[in-house]
Amino acid sequence: MDTITCFTTRPDTNFGATFIVIAPEHKFAQKILQKKIKIQDEAQYQSIETYIKSSLQKTERERLSEGGKKTGVFTGFYAINHLNNRLMPVWISDFVLADVGTAAVVGVPGHDMRDFEFAKAHNIDILRVVVGSDRDISPIIRKEQIQEEEGTMINSGFLDNMDIHKATKEIMNYLVQKGWGEMVITYHLRDWIFSRQRYWGEPIPMVFCKKCAGDKISYWDKHEVETYDLHVSGRDQSTRTIYKNSSDLIKDIKETMYGWFPLSDKDLPLKLPEVQSYEPNQSGESPLVQMRDWVKTSCPHCGGEARRETDTMPNWAGSCWYFFAFAMNQVPSSKSQTSSLDQISPPAGGLKSQISNSSWLPVDWYIGGAEHAVLHLLYARFWMHALHDMKLIPFREPFRALRNVGMVQAEDGRKMSKSWGNVINPDDIVEKFGADTLRVYEMFMAPFSLEVAWSTQTLRGSSRFIQRIWQIYSDSAKIAKPGESYNKKTIAELQKVILKITVDTPNVKFNTSIAALMEFLNIWEKNEEKLPKNHARDFLKLLAPFAPFITEEIWQSIFDETTSIHTSAWPKADAQLITQEQLYIPVQVNGKVRDMIIVHENEIDEKRVLEKALKSEKIQRWIKDQKYKIIYIKGKILNLVTA
Ligand SMILES: [Zn+2]
Repeated sequence: MDTITCFTTRPDTNFGATFIVIAPEHKFAQKILQKKIKIQDEAQYQSIETYIKSSLQKTERERLSEGGKKTGVFTGFYAINHLNNRLMPVWISDFVLADVGTAAVVGVPGHDMRDFEFAKAHNIDILRVVVGSDRDISPIIRKEQIQEEEGTMINSGFLDNMDIHKATKEIMNYLVQKGWGEMVITYHLRDWIFSRQRYWGEPIPMVFCKKCAGDKISYWDKHEVETYDLHVSGRDQSTRTIYKNSSDLIKDIKETMYGWFPLSDKDLPLKLPEVQSYEPNQSGESPLVQMRDWVKTSCPHCGGEARRETDTMPNWAGSCWYFFAFAMNQVPSSKSQTSSLDQISPPAGGLKSQISNSSWLPVDWYIGGAEHAVLHLLYARFWMHALHDMKLIPFREPFRALRNVGMVQAEDGRKMSKSWGNVINPDDIVEKFGADTLRVYEMFMAPFSLEVAWSTQTLRGSSRFIQRIWQIYSDSAKIAKPGESYNKKTIAELQKVILKITVDTPNVKFNTSIAALMEFLNIWEKNEEKLPKNHARDFLKLLAPFAPFITEEIWQSIFDETTSIHTSAWPKADAQLITQEQLYIPVQVNGKVRDMIIVHENEIDEKRVLEKALKSEKIQRWIKDQKYKIIYIKGKILNLVTA
């Protein structure tokens, strides 16, 4: 009897487990392959061997894609589900990855799409253990019946009738009590090669001393860690534990570490030397190797001659915590406002106090492409967790919210690629159309998170929009002078635009915000329309986040402002202006529009609208003293049909 430990995020559905899938790399699969576990049927052994070997030749991407086809091979073995003593066939499949969870999963085909497809493909039982809001309790035979998110438990013993979220907690406690499982948090974090042989990267603050290497001493010697006061003394117990654990981890490579020491705190930060050329050299070594004066230093331990590490850190070493720099700059360490990132390092008062005092952390929003969600985001969180464990920062999670931005594809609908020659370079667009046009276009082109193909035609539309903005503000006739009349309905429309953009923009609905601005411009451009100056300024402010340059120019040159529009107060919608709304009601005589009357929205009953229409000279001219029938669609149109 062997044990297979499975990882699941849905323990609530465990009564519905009907099979086990292990990765080809799983030790149980490897035991079969090495014949440590005997398979009687030679043909079956052959098929297992063939499957495992071909799986291991595939890349992870190939294993996960394959057009969604769920391949696999049955081992001939069964696992017992402790919850109901059900025998579950053990399969090997390459859709389970070796480094995710325990490299083994329970198959719950009734409530997981991937498991469902696998069960269908291999003729495995499908059980229902959750009832969704549709109350469907029939056997699950179609994809549409799979309830993955919400529902109530059935066919699950003591979990029956519980909401799945409650059931999840109950079953976890139960499994722990029984000693059948434990609660874990897993991260799909890969090993990270941390050194690069190039100039641009943070230098690694490590020093190698030949003499100490000869004496078999390094920073990580147990004795050293206890007495070395660089990082450990003065810190609390948990920090010391972390250093001790790291020295335990390093045991296996202890000999290769002889002679290596970190720089002492007073020598940090270590900066890159100024160089003439930072091209990589032929030998493949870091360009820093050539900087002999920089490389040569003294040993932090014995004071003898030593050399610096010449490899540098990868991009993400900085990007995992660069956002601290903004927070550190927010709280100037001296009276003079520090603005250069160079000046603020190292921070006065220490990282800890600067971060703790900053209202800018944790970061409100993390915005990146979907590709960031699994790599950079995870690494950055990993760093924060480590810093938090070391009690250097007061929070564990660095980002409060994540928003993925959709990828912009080439005009031909394919991914932009040099090899296809379809790359759009933003610099060229800025050169030709201006930065405002590019910004407006990119925010207008599609909902924020959607992929969208580049469209030069839409770009031209954005360019025209910007030009029309310039024209209308340059036209003094479009801005009402004091005492000059204007259309209250237009002002009411503007209040609605203010409300809409104030709500849409923080919700990343940039495209609908810009659409509202464009619609309003259409209204304002109409023949006699004018905006009083304060409302024209409000409209400009609404546009400012989307087209920062032209709005600033208009703000200063047309409105004679001396401070930036971007520091001006955001416009507030005036609710009174909206409720005092006026309506245009077309008045027809015998089906032809002869006039428009303006009524307050509280005066749209038939009697008052007719009264107003009959006062119109234009209408009188067509009606004269004929009798007429009245057809009125409330608030929309009045038609007078003469007999
Ligand atoms: Zn030394």
